Amino acid sequence: MPELPEVEIRRQYLETSSLYQPISHIEVEDKKLLTTDYHTLQEWLIGRQFVGTERVGKNLFVRTDQPNIFVHMHFGMTGDLEYYHSSLDRPRFARIVFEFTNGFNLGFLCPRKFERVGLIDSIDEFLLRKKIGPDGPAVTVEALARQVQRKKAFIKPVLLDQQVVAGLGNWIVDEVLFQARIHPEQRADTLSEIQIHQLHDAIRLVLETAIRYEAAYRDFPIDFLIHVREWDNSPYDDVEAHKFCPRCHTRIERSVVGGRTTFFCPREQFIQ
Ligand SMILES: [Zn+2]
Repeated sequence: MPELPEVEIRRQYLETSSLYQPISHIEVEDKKLLTTDYHTLQEWLIGRQFVGTERVGKNLFVRTDQPNIFVHMHFGMTGDLEYYHSSLDRPRFARIVFEFTNGFNLGFLCPRKFERVGLIDSIDEFLLRKKIGPDGPAVTVEALARQVQRKKAFIKPVLLDQQVVAGLGNWIVDEVLFQARIHPEQRADTLSEIQIHQLHDAIRLVLETAIRYEAAYRDFPIDFLIHVREWDNSPYDDVEAHKFCPRCHTRIERSVVGGRTTFFCPREQFIQ
């Protein structure tokens, strides 16, 4: 599933390929993928240009040269973008295609049809209405403390809540808690100031690392928990070697927290 790092990579891709080209046509194969009526979409976007991008959590917003018109993209389970010349075949699953006057197209690839595209007139209002909290890499330590310290639930499901911090999926939360040395079942309201700071640093570390390595998890630094998760249930010969904590070599525990598969180091991540 495209997590925050993958959506950030798509944002950068759109930003470097598709800005400042007037839109001549929008081809939509399946209208169910639109959250805005097709004719309204055409009416507001034909002749317009994309001029910038913003991302909050897993939501991508594309600014147009109309100040109150934004295109919202959600990548669902498998969505992707492909910029290509119109003389080439339409990429597979490009069910929504923005055609530019320069002969290039931006295809929105929707293999499983969970993806969505629509128009909005205000990013702030959209985030408020959808109850989407501050973006992971941008959240301040104060905002994080405010959000976390009033919750009585375990810290792991609290961090998965998009209203608390936007864009943290299951493996990211495990990695964040591992890097911060916090047990996934510590109650959120019992986190100390030091733990909140460690949590804040870890959110940034994990997301920035994932974006830097373009979400190619196998390339991540060796002291990341992701390798244990990646190699779990894999046919690798050295699978046993990767089931231990990269820092203290304790066997990593696999459990279920808040209904989600969870990996943690039982020695370094204990409930304080
Ligand atoms: Zn450890």
